[in-house]
Amino acid sequence: MSAYDFDLFVIGGGSGGVRAARLAAGLGKRVAIAEEYRFGGTCVIRGCVPKKLLVYASQYPEHFEDAEGYGWHVGERSFSWPELIAAKDKEIDRLEGLYRKGLENAGAEILESRAEIIGPHRLRLNASGQEVTAEKILIAVGGAPNPHPEMPGSELCISSNEAFHLDELPKSIAITGGGYIAVEFANIFNGLGVETTLIYRGPEILRGFDMDMRTNLREAMEKKGIRVVCHDTILDVAQAADGRLKAETRQGHVFNVDKVMMALGRLPNTKSLGLESVGVQTDAKGAIEVDQYSRTNVDYIYALGDVTDRVQLTPVAIHEAMCFIETEYKNNPTTPDHDLIATAVFSQPEIGTVGLPEDVAAERYTELEVYLAKFRPMKATLSGRDERTVMKLIVNAADRKVVGAHILGHEAGEMAQLIGVALKGGCTKDDFDRTMAVHPTASEELVTMYNPTYRVKNGERV
Ligand code: NDP
Repeated sequence: MSAYDFDLFVIGGGSGGVRAARLAAGLGKRVAIAEEYRFGGTCVIRGCVPKKLLVYASQYPEHFEDAEGYGWHVGERSFSWPELIAAKDKEIDRLEGLYRKGLENAGAEILESRAEIIGPHRLRLNASGQEVTAEKILIAVGGAPNPHPEMPGSELCISSNEAFHLDELPKSIAITGGGYIAVEFANIFNGLGVETTLIYRGPEILRGFDMDMRTNLREAMEKKGIRVVCHDTILDVAQAADGRLKAETRQGHVFNVDKVMMALGRLPNTKSLGLESVGVQTDAKGAIEVDQYSRTNVDYIYALGDVTDRVQLTPVAIHEAMCFIETEYKNNPTTPDHDLIATAVFSQPEIGTVGLPEDVAAERYTELEVYLAKFRPMKATLSGRDERTVMKLIVNAADRKVVGAHILGHEAGEMAQLIGVALKGGCTKDDFDRTMAVHPTASEELVTMYNPTYRVKNGERV
């Protein structure tokens, strides 16, 4: 019998922590998992899942409009934000229940408390003051929106956390940032009829994505009525006499809006965890430093998910948790594979992507073949909607391997998941060419682009 109260103590009930706790308990380990807020973490409670529900809600006005082209005449319509939020909350409650049930069924002890490390192998539960010991400690506390406190008026702004629980839908909003969250919420609010402005400091939204996706998405967003202001940033937010907010930017713009939302990245939740009491190393951003096995510099403490700031994505945290279990409890050392992660931006239209953007591939390989198609999706023919789907394959000419696949259009996220398998399997362009098309689909374009649109040699387009 171990001298400790638990074999494994997990701090944080999000995607990574819950998976690790559930699997370890299922192996017969004595596991406790502490969560101060709600089980499910950012993804389930105030991230990916509720976000996607809001995305669906925001798409209905276009569905109603498009229906006309297909002979449907949709009558009077109205939208209730409180009803949407209530329905969303009900679904989130259901999912949280499933997370708890999974832990209980596996035999993990659920502790509804903040937990803090107070010494070697020792933790305190803040809710009760109780102290417990554990042989291993896993930190999976995630991150939180960067509150940007250096900006005057930042306390008047909302983050994605609050966006999910606004009492009423604002009439106008200014969103600052140009990453996943800023872009997704700009589309959500605009779709729901909110006058939306997106303000981003760089030359083009979504730094790090392929440029064809970035520019085509931005143009599509502008066509839908979103005002996108690049090369600019909000310097100051103040309360105006009429109760609205006045946001002033570096370029001298003044936006009078109901809400200002900041989406300027997320910071690791490492404050007040007691890391210093045992000397766990963190980096300049506060992220816990780990090796390839998610081990910290303290031999019995591990960390995974967003708190380690490797790749801030739910499936990555889950994957890291499964590798941790293999390594520590199944005698099968396994390192997470962070290569070729397929991902989606749930903008409107969506981006689905896996592999390298063209500019990065051009730096890595001497010669590229680039296959690019831009076309009107079939549904838009009768609906008359002015929209385009963009598909792009990037091929290393030397070995014909497809090193990047980028899609902008309906269900691009679904396509990215599947094409991710092809890239992970190391498929060449010849494999794509000999794959029979599924007709009529948008994705058939991915296997019927037979001739390169252009080549890139030594970084130059030829
Ligand atoms: P991102 O890192 O994607 O974007 C942050 C944005 O804020 C960037 O545009 C960045 O600009 C800008 N920024 C940062 N600091 C400042 C500053 N001081 N002044 C002005 N602009 C600034 O973070 P998000 O908050 O959008 O999302 C956090 C993470 O959550 C993402 O990295 C992603 O991994 C994950 N996520 C994933 C989703 C999905 O899979 N669909 C959805 C939502 C979130 P610059 O680019 O110039 O640095």
